[in-house]
Amino acid sequence: MELPLCSFDLRTGMFCPRCSEKLKKGLYTDLDVRVMKILLELEKRITKLQKTGYVKSVDGGDTIFIIFRNGDLGKFEIREVAQLRKILGDELGKHIRLIEDHPDPLKFLEGVAAPARIVAVNKIWLPDGSEETRVIFDHERNLKVGEESLKKLLEEVKGMRLMIDFERRRLWRPQKEERAPRGAVTRG
Ligand SMILES: [Zn+2]
Repeated sequence: MELPLCSFDLRTGMFCPRCSEKLKKGLYTDLDVRVMKILLELEKRITKLQKTGYVKSVDGGDTIFIIFRNGDLGKFEIREVAQLRKILGDELGKHIRLIEDHPDPLKFLEGVAAPARIVAVNKIWLPDGSEETRVIFDHERNLKVGEESLKKLLEEVKGMRLMIDFERRRLWRPQKEERAPRGAVTRG
């Protein structure tokens, strides 16, 4: 398996200067190290893993997202993905979502959010100069991932600050007032 940290380091728990630097910078967390260790063990049994690449893991609270290189999960059969999820879930004690990376942050988001569809996107510049991306999904009931975990995922993996809205919401919940933050400039 292609890993961002040396497999030797992961096995021994002693990190070389290059890997230590990556950990120090926070590019990879303790969770990444744990997940990579498990995957290294697993690739002996699930040999298809050897041809995949690991990108990152994000703990979204109720779900841990484990991100593989773009196109890698397609190499597995559905049964194998389920098996992988089960093993990782048992080891990490949380619900696991295996996802693929995509160079386009919105395509990446769409992959995770499916079956919810993105109907509109606009960037919002806040008074402090930072930027938020407001994404409107088709219907609240189509989004099966928690909004907060989705936000955390996009922030950690793509550096994107997300605002989530829906074209249609569930009927039993009152419509949230749509208003841009005070002083914000909206561009289509
Ligand atoms: Zn190393």
